[in-house]
Amino acid sequence: MNAPIRFDTKLLDAALAAIRRDHALFIDGKLVNSADGRVLERISPAHGVLVTRCQQAGIAETEMAIAAARAAFDSGVWSRIKGADRAAVLLKVADMIEANAEEIALLDCLEAGKPIAQARVEIAGSADIWRYAAALARDLHGESYNTLGEAALGVVVREPVGVVSIITPWNFPFLIVAQKLPFALAAGCTCVVKPSEFTSASTLVLGEMLAKAGLPAGVVNIIAGLGSEIGPMMTSDARVDMVSFTGSTIVGKGAVRASADTLKKVSMELGGKNPQVIFADCDWDAAIDAVLFGAFFNAGECCNAGSRILVQKSMAAEFVAKLVARSRDVTVGDPLDENTRVGAMITAKHQSQVQNHITQAVKDGAKIACGGTAPAMATGMFLEPTILTELRPEMAVALEEVFGPVLSVLTFETHEEAIALANSTIYGLSASVWSMNVDTCLQIARHVHAGTVWINTFMDGFSELPFGGYKQSGLGRELGRHSVKDYTEEKTIHFHSEARTSWWMPQKR
Ligand code: NAD
Repeated sequence: MNAPIRFDTKLLDAALAAIRRDHALFIDGKLVNSADGRVLERISPAHGVLVTRCQQAGIAETEMAIAAARAAFDSGVWSRIKGADRAAVLLKVADMIEANAEEIALLDCLEAGKPIAQARVEIAGSADIWRYAAALARDLHGESYNTLGEAALGVVVREPVGVVSIITPWNFPFLIVAQKLPFALAAGCTCVVKPSEFTSASTLVLGEMLAKAGLPAGVVNIIAGLGSEIGPMMTSDARVDMVSFTGSTIVGKGAVRASADTLKKVSMELGGKNPQVIFADCDWDAAIDAVLFGAFFNAGECCNAGSRILVQKSMAAEFVAKLVARSRDVTVGDPLDENTRVGAMITAKHQSQVQNHITQAVKDGAKIACGGTAPAMATGMFLEPTILTELRPEMAVALEEVFGPVLSVLTFETHEEAIALANSTIYGLSASVWSMNVDTCLQIARHVHAGTVWINTFMDGFSELPFGGYKQSGLGRELGRHSVKDYTEEKTIHFHSEARTSWWMPQKR
């Protein structure tokens, strides 16, 4: 066996020197320590060393955060100011994200184990989303009906929904909060934000930026803590009007159930098992690159991962051979190294769950075309990019979200078969089609049940384009020009003018 690969300790030392290590909660405009002294200590999954310590919120701090958000909302200090004034704050936050981009990227890289080059792109993308939301804050408007006769004028206005609980996962810590928080703020809502317990630091840093940008106290409250402990309160408390959640389908369903007693508005971004449908007439090199990117980007820990490919049978053997050969060039290693493509898995528990999926797939008859094991690293949780072939569509690995660097390969003969396979899971987040034939592309795009279908590309994203899932991949859409509306209620204001026109009671006069 080869000697384990050791990382350059200079990279880690420099990163640790460039970040803030200790992080307080952000409640009612103040940095707050937890009352019981608990701290979330994060060991870098790649390096095996303690990288951050975040104050840990319990029920007491969650109570404070919800109370502060409710009071701030009801005071009108944010919900009733001009859209232009809200936009000005969001724009300042975007500037500060850019000014602090390297520290934020390093925090996400160290806590999540994701490659630094990729983290930098995510932080730049986040700043862009904050700017986009700022523009929408000034364009939030309703409708008017001047067509209801002389006695009536109907005006439909939009009002902020109220207090929003925002709960985010660990795989894109700073990017996912950017897909929610600025839109809620643009609408005039106030928020309680809970990042994942594994990756809280960058979101807590955001709190300090919000305060510096001039956001009034209590409008955003950020609490790090265990989902199982404080999540139920965030999703059920009567003072919360909406829950915006990104995470696993199973926890998301629990959050919807918890919110049901008080009938909160919900927005759910959940899991995926996203197919890339590949036809023999496509640009093979482009498709191979996109398949590797889709499957192994963020170590496959991505709701949008293209974790299964459906390949036309006539080309499958040759295409998969080329794919496997190219996958050997995917660099797995130190997330702090700019050349790394695949970093560490989030936790040892998750790594072993992914490995169990591979073991079960083999028991069910799958063949490991490459990968399948952990590479020899001196520290950390890593998995080789893995490609599984000889699958049957009903096998668990072909249907379930694995959330690791594991690609399932299935084949099809007809377009109808491809569509049926693409639609054969409980999920419907995204898909892609690869072909030079525009009719083929349109047919697949129209018939696959997914919130996004890419044609001859994969996982490109723009702030302007809505993102969300069909079926059990979620409820609602984020990004796009309607995203601020999700954080509003519609109110009809009906003006009556002139004399009453339709009397209910017989008139005596
Ligand atoms: P998770 O569901 O375990 O946790 C998500 C968040 O929910 C965390 O902050 C966690 O602390 C919190 N939580 C846990 N228990 C809770 C409870 N009882 N009540 C309220 N909140 C609770 O998900 P994860 O492991 O952090 O992330 C991976 C999952 O997220 C994958 O399934 C992935 O597909 C999904 N995801 C979806 C999208 C999307 O946009 N569709 C994006 C990223 C990740």
